[in-house]
Amino acid sequence: MRLIDGKLVAKVTREEIANEVASLKAKGLKNEIGLAVIFVGDNPASQVYVRNKIKACEEVGMKSFLCKLPEDSTFEDVANTIESLNANPDVSGMILQLPIPKHLDENKLISLIAPEKDVDGCTATQKGRMWTGRDSLVACTPYGVMKLLDFYNIPLEGKNAVVVGRSNLVGKPMAQLLLDRNCTVTICHSRTQGLADITRRADILVVAIGKAKFLKADMVQEGAVVIDVGMDRDENGKLCGDVDFENVKEKCSYITPVPGGVGPMTVTMLLANTVKAYNQQQGLK
Ligand code: NAP
Repeated sequence: MRLIDGKLVAKVTREEIANEVASLKAKGLKNEIGLAVIFVGDNPASQVYVRNKIKACEEVGMKSFLCKLPEDSTFEDVANTIESLNANPDVSGMILQLPIPKHLDENKLISLIAPEKDVDGCTATQKGRMWTGRDSLVACTPYGVMKLLDFYNIPLEGKNAVVVGRSNLVGKPMAQLLLDRNCTVTICHSRTQGLADITRRADILVVAIGKAKFLKADMVQEGAVVIDVGMDRDENGKLCGDVDFENVKEKCSYITPVPGGVGPMTVTMLLANTVKAYNQQQGLK
């Protein structure tokens, strides 16, 4: 079994991004390379994620904009913030930190983000581009998973890939990215019957369901590559994934740990998408 080291891959990728930012700056920037994070309310988990994003921007030399709005903000308040960021040429990309308070219409707000600044690949435009095989800004978590698979030169063509979970942000784009790389893809969800029979056929198994240690060793084929997207808490409140790591790891050829697997890649790919968006906006790439 080989551990897929997300911290290492994130570090290498962030160094590449920092180099690209530095060389763009050396040529002289017309506008900033900037990421805006819109944070509505004060969800404690989101506070940590937002802080990490702002810090990551600083580390690679990018500008960050933290737009913090109170819990009782109206739809118009958030919409106005998005519109002003759309119009700001120093904002290359923006992300609406989820979850947002329940009284706000998430889909409607996301649809207001200018597609060229949609660095989390969540607008219909960017998703449509991806699903029709065109160049796009891809959702950061599945994009990060692809980066991990490629870093370890894991062959994908012709392999049986099973994605457990079908969320718009993780499962669905994950399946599409694997399909684009010529895997034969099966998507499973909460209504799937005979889940273990399907997961046992996977050469590449991606689990993104949000249930601590759900995937057991008897659900995994010998030699499978197991990618655990889950970020859950175990019975002692300790961070863990959707995979029963201790028991599953012996059966795998490769496996991601939690923490230290997929997690560090998500913010990294957000930075990568922001630089990509900047280049596209400036007509550079
Ligand atoms: P989500 O929107 O809640 O979606 C969960 C998906 O899992 C749904 O499609 C659901 O099926 C499916 N599911 C739930 N229980 C299942 C079961 N028993 N068997 C099969 N499928 C089941 O979650 P998400 O946003 O995709 O996130 C999934 C996990 O990844 C969470 O732990 C989250 O914290 C983590 N995550 C991590 C990162 C990272 O950076 N590492 C980023 C994003 C998310 P239905 O569609 O039928 O309901």
